[in-house]
Amino acid sequence: MKPTPITPPPADDAARKAVSPVICYPTEALPRPDISAYRKAREGAELVETVIVPPREAATWELPAGHFFRIICSEGPQVGDLNLFNLHNLKERFYSGKTRALNGTHLGTGDQLFSSFPYLRPLATITEDTLDWYGFDAFGGAVHDVIGTRCDPYTHNLLSNGGQYHHCCHSNLTRALARKTGLSLAEAEPHIHDVLNVFMCTGFTRDTGQYFMKASPVRPGDFLEFFAEIDLLGCLSACPGGDCSSEHSSDTSVCYPLIVEVWEPKSLPIGWTPPELNGYDGSHSHSL
Ligand SMILES: [Zn+2]
Repeated sequence: MKPTPITPPPADDAARKAVSPVICYPTEALPRPDISAYRKAREGAELVETVIVPPREAATWELPAGHFFRIICSEGPQVGDLNLFNLHNLKERFYSGKTRALNGTHLGTGDQLFSSFPYLRPLATITEDTLDWYGFDAFGGAVHDVIGTRCDPYTHNLLSNGGQYHHCCHSNLTRALARKTGLSLAEAEPHIHDVLNVFMCTGFTRDTGQYFMKASPVRPGDFLEFFAEIDLLGCLSACPGGDCSSEHSSDTSVCYPLIVEVWEPKSLPIGWTPPELNGYDGSHSHSL
């Protein structure tokens, strides 16, 4: 948040502010998947697993490269916090910040979720989104953001005069990953990372630039579907904020389960090949 300025503006302040922005990462240079081939492969796919994510808890699932997974709103408006890992290497995980820089603040069909350094490659591709009609609303809000982080007990502690709450998404994801891997909670926690906020409606206020949320437009039956670019371990928390219309980090909001379905296609998308590890040689020039 910008404070009230105490520095007098320079004589050319209007001219400096009037400079047009340029896109940091032009998407023309970013390889994009052939979504029509993905959608074609999805036809006739077989449902092979259904995972229920209980309210204020998290659950995990595995899926091989080439499978699809669908996150479904079940009984009522509910947002989900998604973590993704390379199934064989927890160090390769979803990188929310670079995904944001490459795709924008909120994701939609055709966007890819990138992995952390030094891997930086697509982990998953969004193939269908029943909330794509929402776009950006009059407040600048949109769904499926990569601008938030994940609700967590440390921030809650700061903001609540020492409060202790154990069902923030960060804690839910930590417990679920520990259950899945056999790691202790302390070992699992550092693997939890900033999320894709599935179904959550968020933005930044125009006047102060603060992160805001509002009631999610998601309704039962809505879904967001992904194609796995590599073998994945998924982990999803049904946020204690419910539809995130008022507050999170408490048991106050009404919460509902989320459903994850894993679908096995009959054949892989035509022309698709698994993404290779990032091509940077990692030497950092050896000059020091
Ligand atoms: Zn949350």
